[in-house]
Amino acid sequence: MKNRWSEKRAGKLTGIDALVYASRIIGEEPELVLWGGGNSSAKAMVKDHLGREVRVLLMKGSGSDMRTITTKQFTPLRLDELLPLLEREDMTDEEMVAYQSRCMMENAAPKPSIETLLHAFLPAPHVYHTHADSICALTDTSDSPKLIHSVYGNDVALIPYLRPGFRLAKLVAEAYRQNPDLRAIVLDKHGLVAWGKTPKEAYNETIRMVSEAERFIRRNIQGRFDRPVRAIVAQPASERRAHAALVAPLLRGAVGRSRRMIITYEDSKLALAFVNDPRARLLSQVGPFTPDHMLHTKPKPLFLELTGTRTSEAIADVVRDAVEHYRKEYVKYFERHKSPGVTMLDPYPRVILIPALGMFTTGKDRRAARITHDLYMHTMRVILKASAIDSYTTLSPKDICDFEYWPLENFKLTLLPQEKQLSRRIVLVTGAAGAIGRAIASRLVAEGASVILTDIHEKKLRALSAELNQQAGEENTVAIPMDVTDEDSVVNAFQQAVMAFGGLDILVSNAGIACSAPVESVTLDDWSKSFAVNATGHFLVCREALRLFKRQGLGGNVVVVSTKNVLAPGKDFGAYSASKAAQAQLARVLAIEAAEFGVRVNMVNPDAVFEGSGLWSKEVRESRAKAYGIQVEQIEAYCADRNLLKVRITAHDVAEAVLFLASDRSSKTTGAIIPVDGGVKEAFPR
Ligand code: ZN
Repeated sequence: MKNRWSEKRAGKLTGIDALVYASRIIGEEPELVLWGGGNSSAKAMVKDHLGREVRVLLMKGSGSDMRTITTKQFTPLRLDELLPLLEREDMTDEEMVAYQSRCMMENAAPKPSIETLLHAFLPAPHVYHTHADSICALTDTSDSPKLIHSVYGNDVALIPYLRPGFRLAKLVAEAYRQNPDLRAIVLDKHGLVAWGKTPKEAYNETIRMVSEAERFIRRNIQGRFDRPVRAIVAQPASERRAHAALVAPLLRGAVGRSRRMIITYEDSKLALAFVNDPRARLLSQVGPFTPDHMLHTKPKPLFLELTGTRTSEAIADVVRDAVEHYRKEYVKYFERHKSPGVTMLDPYPRVILIPALGMFTTGKDRRAARITHDLYMHTMRVILKASAIDSYTTLSPKDICDFEYWPLENFKLTLLPQEKQLSRRIVLVTGAAGAIGRAIASRLVAEGASVILTDIHEKKLRALSAELNQQAGEENTVAIPMDVTDEDSVVNAFQQAVMAFGGLDILVSNAGIACSAPVESVTLDDWSKSFAVNATGHFLVCREALRLFKRQGLGGNVVVVSTKNVLAPGKDFGAYSASKAAQAQLARVLAIEAAEFGVRVNMVNPDAVFEGSGLWSKEVRESRAKAYGIQVEQIEAYCADRNLLKVRITAHDVAEAVLFLASDRSSKTTGAIIPVDGGVKEAFPR
């Protein structure tokens, strides 16, 4: 394992700064810790509020991530108040947590890690705890004591598996007391604890321990790893992905019965090698390689065999049955092993393994699905390594359930921000690069939606996606170029959209063009173009969305951005108004046809939005001004003046109406029109 310590960067760092530095370089190595796993501490002297020197343990706060940790995420605890606990026989988790919180120097500091006492009881000034893949590949075997001894001799102690807490901390302290020459302690089926007099020493020991494990594994697996017994099915990636795009919405529908999920797909060499290994069905059901992954991965993935299932209907049946079987098995496991007073969590799988296809992971958003993805990619490696050395073995089902339902672990979930109204919802917006599309996309992302941005203007689309992803801090949008008038382009874009987030909940059919001229001078070309975008474009995306909604089985929602002109047409706008009227009529028919599948279809009718609009080109402005009999520069004031409220309509106003129709707040509304026109009495819906 690469040693990331840099004397140049760390040389002058002292105290908590050195602790932050060491924690971060541990966090940067995914084979040491992943996504909030592991913890670190330092013992130091600090001054209290009266200026007295106090010995403290600077402990990583619960739920923080070592890769990005800051000084504020460490909690100072009075060490001299923690150490007397060594004399105690036993303590419940609640007593321990209450006691720890009384030892905190600062009330506002985060809750310290549940492994605080383990760090406190080891006398070394710097202690780092990781869930290193290679260490776990050794511990997750049938005879781990023998294996650990043959790698490290008597310099390292192996502590039998115990859920973190007081008793584990005592066992670690006892092992150290018996042999103060120990260089590290390995926690069976869990991870590594290493220490040192300085941060550098503790870090180096961590890396040395892991490197020795890596060398041992390399020597002992003799090429058995990386060589799946069954060759990877020689299927072109495009075919495999088309198949995955068919399966993803079925999975999303089946696992999202109680709460919708975002699904990501992985078909890397490792994922394929694992799922195609004939042992994978059994190996994947053994359990997690370190317990705290369960918060994200659940104890077991769903292993789903689709080979030989050909038709779309047959695949749908197999997927539904397999997910239902998983749910029932999960309920059985919970009932058998639960402790009194706990409530069952979501019984659906977070990881789905399918031979020949690869791996799907689910989460409340793309970030959560990615965390599960990363954890399971490492799990597959650890499983393959452990089973190449010996046989992959992990916790008992009772220990798994005790950990999965451990209040101190589930406490981390309460630290997450509250979910927003469109969280877990996938939206596809057409014409996203235009002024209205952009405002809609930005509003929906702000409300927690995962948004697929589509448009023919690829460059603008990608820039918008990058901007929105930066604002939201996550990959909540993807840019997919699409021409709504081209059937193949629409079908392809929907397939890519499914691969990005796993399915679809809401379509915002917004792409449109305007052309202004009296009927007698409209060219056939302009007429046809207007219909291609404003009518056929909506037809193609609505048709594709409906097919997808039906396959997914979670209902659906279509919001069509129409126009005031449908109800109150004006002169010289024939091609625009007629094509938009076709769109509006299509939306109404769709509302009638799709209701039985739980799909709603509604319209927003804005009046002219000028700000940043590509629709109101110079030519259209000039032509509309002529039609109204006014100067071109008066047009915006003219449009404001003709409505009852005398207001100008902005893209933001349209986005608010779209958000309402897209959200569950309008769940009983379909076939409706919301005007966003400041009140134009000729355009009152009737
Ligand atoms: Zn741990």
